[in-house]
Amino acid sequence: MGTCFGVRDALERAFAEQDPGTVTIWGELVHNPAVLARLRDAGFDSRAERARGGRPSRPRVLITAHGVSNRERARLEAQTEGLIDTTCPLVKKAHDVALELAAEGRHVVVIGRRGHVEVEGLLGDVPHGDAVASPSEVAHYPYPRLGVLCQTTTPPDEVAAVLREIRALNPSADVRFVDTVCAPTRDRQEALQELAGEVELAVVVGGRNSNNTAALAATLEKLGCRTVRVEGPDDLRVGDFVGVTRVGLTAGTSTLDATIDAVEARLRSMGA
Ligand code: SF4
Repeated sequence: MGTCFGVRDALERAFAEQDPGTVTIWGELVHNPAVLARLRDAGFDSRAERARGGRPSRPRVLITAHGVSNRERARLEAQTEGLIDTTCPLVKKAHDVALELAAEGRHVVVIGRRGHVEVEGLLGDVPHGDAVASPSEVAHYPYPRLGVLCQTTTPPDEVAAVLREIRALNPSADVRFVDTVCAPTRDRQEALQELAGEVELAVVVGGRNSNNTAALAATLEKLGCRTVRVEGPDDLRVGDFVGVTRVGLTAGTSTLDATIDAVEARLRSMGA
């Protein structure tokens, strides 16, 4: 559980920056309010995810681990004195896949959340594409060739369900699927299978707008395990744990070890 290498590397790069006063972070470096506050205190400016576009306010721009489209990268390069690119290599790999599928003349379908910055970046690279988060969002696509890939943090069982529906609603299409779910997401999702069988309730630590944190909670609920989502120890409420004898703990890939430790300590003191 907890921070993946992509987020860790992005944070290390940001906190190693010698001159944060010259840098605009293009979106949220991680979907974690505690980390965002630290970055602000360090002197970085940041552009809200929904307000990306236009000229950056400072001479340099830091691209987050979620990545941007090649078009957006080129635009930012032209409008700034330099980019600090912390795009996760596994997100880069997904971009390469999207470009390859588009080059084969396929309509690109990303299994992921429409509007999420990673998905916007992936779709920004291809001439035409769609994003679908669940089987109910799948449509018949009027293209003979489809290329399907995943937002890196999509739970594998959701990918399987959406892919089945894409094939069912597009029976005559030539569908090529490339699995771009990242290894840390896969590992954390697999660990939940074990956890859900062992506890009565699981605490999921992570930012409220963190996609993978939401996915962890959704998987636990699907497995029949009650969940409580918190951003930190202060969100824990004793009332949620009345009558509960075994509690599990997991955390999204953007949750710092220090936050997880603080939640664990509070849980233990509540248990005592
Ligand atoms: S969740 Fe996966 S793709 Fe995203 S930053 Fe972490 S390792 Fe990279």
